[in-house]
Amino acid sequence: MMTKAKNLPSKLPYVGTTIFTVMSKLATDEGAYNLSQGFPSFDCSPKLSELVCHYLKNGYNQYAPMSGAPVFRESIAEKTADVYGISYNPETEVTVTSGATEAIFCAVTAVVYPGDEVIVLEPAYDSYVPAIDLNGGVPVFVTLDAPDFKIDWEKVKAKISPKTKAILINTPHNPVGTVFSKEDLDCLAEIIRGKDIYIISDEVYEHIVFDGEVHHSMMTHPELKERSFICNSVGKTYHVTGWKIGYCLAPAALTKEFRRIHQYITFCTVSPMQFALADFLKLPEHYEALSDFYQRKRDRFNEALKASRFTFKPSKGSFFQIVSYEKITDEYDYDLAIRLTKEIKVASVPVSVFYKDKKDDKLLRFCFAKDDDILDKAAELLCKL
Ligand code: PMP
Ligand code: GLN
Repeated sequence: MMTKAKNLPSKLPYVGTTIFTVMSKLATDEGAYNLSQGFPSFDCSPKLSELVCHYLKNGYNQYAPMSGAPVFRESIAEKTADVYGISYNPETEVTVTSGATEAIFCAVTAVVYPGDEVIVLEPAYDSYVPAIDLNGGVPVFVTLDAPDFKIDWEKVKAKISPKTKAILINTPHNPVGTVFSKEDLDCLAEIIRGKDIYIISDEVYEHIVFDGEVHHSMMTHPELKERSFICNSVGKTYHVTGWKIGYCLAPAALTKEFRRIHQYITFCTVSPMQFALADFLKLPEHYEALSDFYQRKRDRFNEALKASRFTFKPSKGSFFQIVSYEKITDEYDYDLAIRLTKEIKVASVPVSVFYKDKKDDKLLRFCFAKDDDILDKAAELLCKL
């Protein structure tokens, strides 16, 4: 007799379907304006799609080299040097990955052994903790508090132990839209000085900063650069989240181990897009205009929301705005996000999902990477609450 498959014991028992999938599906089912999952409602540059078509039609469809197409790695290194004045060797220090998610996973896997501790600043992007857990690591949380979510470096320092192997950093920050200052980098460097601690830095929103803020990449601090895996994504910068192409910049000694892991997770990343991006990264106009482009969207949405009962401080970076609904209701944020999607047809993400213990500060996250008419309509509906 055939025995039915049994449920497997889970290595990630606390994980369900991600909130992004849940909310996007609900938004579609309910015909709601989808300001939940972080992706643009508009397309990438036609020039970029033309380049992809060109490479698709001209024989660039077989495996790319494991570490990424050399022309793409060179282009990434050149762009990095242009933007930050910092050099990475494309041969040994730049690795193309299947999204920033894979880069983060490989970096965590490269350094974390069972029992090692990794400091995670919460709220935190949802892929960090599972990556640590799957490697037998122990996430050690430092909670950042609303409304400013400033990092108290003394608190971080207090969590460092002989078992600390890495610190996960995210600037500009998803979901709260804060950005590191130069002083933050100095404090971080001071804390890890003389210790065997690595930095895994998620900088996917590097080109989306507002009000004259500057993105301070870990690479701009010489001490931090030597210990950092800088994880990036072309998804956010070029409006192509569905391509899942990212990369990791790290000193050769760290990249060596990173690639050992990358080669057995995916081996290599989708090929024709790499060649298209190699050409497109050479045009600074797009990424140089990105902060202004998104600042206009943030301002348009926030201006319209001023007529609502939501309260907020304007996001400083990323394409997310968090708002407090304290003056409207004391419902649990998850329940409210579901209710608003169903009743007023605007989908958001509850901020509690970014905390391990689901801390509820009565905050919702709205993604403003949307066409203006969607932002206007969504804000109008939110103002009725
Ligand atoms: N980090 C952060 C902070 C993000 O918001 C995202 C969103 N996609 C990622 C990593 C993952 O990037 P990718 O889609 O390139 O894997
Ligand atoms: N980064 C996107 C967000 O925060 C979602 C990515 C995903 O769906 N996994 O909304």
